[in-house]
Amino acid sequence: MINLKDLTFEELKTFLVDNGEKPFRAKQIFAWLHRGVESFDEMTDISVSLRNKLRTICTVSRLKIVRKLESKIDETKKYLFELEDGNRVESVVMYYKHGITICISCQVGCRMGCKFCASTIGGLVRSLTPGEILDQIIFAQKDIGERISNIVMMGIGEPLDNFDNVIKFLKIVNDENGINIGYRHISLSTCGIVPKIKELMNYNFPLTLSVSLHAPSNEIRNTIMPVNKSYNISELISVCKEYTKYTKRRISFEFALIKDVNDNKDVARMLGMLVKGMLCHVNLIPVNSVEENTFTKPSKNKIREFVNVLEQMGIAVTVRRELGSDINASCGQLRRKENAKEELS
Ligand code: SAH
Repeated sequence: MINLKDLTFEELKTFLVDNGEKPFRAKQIFAWLHRGVESFDEMTDISVSLRNKLRTICTVSRLKIVRKLESKIDETKKYLFELEDGNRVESVVMYYKHGITICISCQVGCRMGCKFCASTIGGLVRSLTPGEILDQIIFAQKDIGERISNIVMMGIGEPLDNFDNVIKFLKIVNDENGINIGYRHISLSTCGIVPKIKELMNYNFPLTLSVSLHAPSNEIRNTIMPVNKSYNISELISVCKEYTKYTKRRISFEFALIKDVNDNKDVARMLGMLVKGMLCHVNLIPVNSVEENTFTKPSKNKIREFVNVLEQMGIAVTVRRELGSDINASCGQLRRKENAKEELS
């Protein structure tokens, strides 16, 4: 049966009309859905007969909070959500001065195989539907009792490997009849699937595209990101240039600094040369260690040196502030730990 949260506002209208209802019902139902009702009975301004009818032709998805970790250092909250089929994904809620941001997942697992990333270790189980991506926001918002204003698609999974569902999700979350988060408040992160970046460009959404670069040469990138063997750095940079030119939006290059892999000054210089002149920003992320691999972050000094090189070259650069470090807030790790625990018990 169809999950109503997988539908855009227009699709919901069509669905209702096709089932003999008046189109104005769509507005009421869409609003209820995105406010987080868990059953048709909660839609109190809709007649009992319509509620009964809906029950027989469609469903309203729910997410169960399996675990919730709250940081004692900052207010960061990390959720392990269970989908209707028992699969689990993670979302993180972060409190910034400019508002509340949620980091959401778009797949159960991931097939991109980045060597430093916990989300990809067990491979891809399945992609999330638009409604399931949306549910993370709906249920986190319901839990905290405050409005979430920003979204980063930087959780588990590769958004551009679940392209159609992600596009639909973006349209739904942006709809003024529902959650209504502006594209300018949404960041989407990709490991660099070049043809899909092009496809996304054609939608011309004013969102922020983050590109996980992590290395300025194919030699290094090939060893940590298998996707580079399909789409190499020059193809990636070239599509990024096209993207910024077409959308006039600044790209954010993510660069996870890994000790002895990509943290020396020569790498910094090479990175500077690669992105110089582009409408972009470099976001350095000291790598989070994952139990299953041996990657560690460079020393503070080494990070400073790296930043200095880029700054001297006139590149806009920041080092990501770590939130929720006491609750393992970086993605993919909670899901793996909880799954492993259950296998043991
Ligand atoms: N699939 C998307 C979103 C994934 S996660 C992508 O690849 O961009 C968001 C960011 O976290 C990516 O830049 C990813 O490379 C990075 N990341 C993954 N594991 C990490 C780790 N252990 N330490 C630091 N950054 C990591």
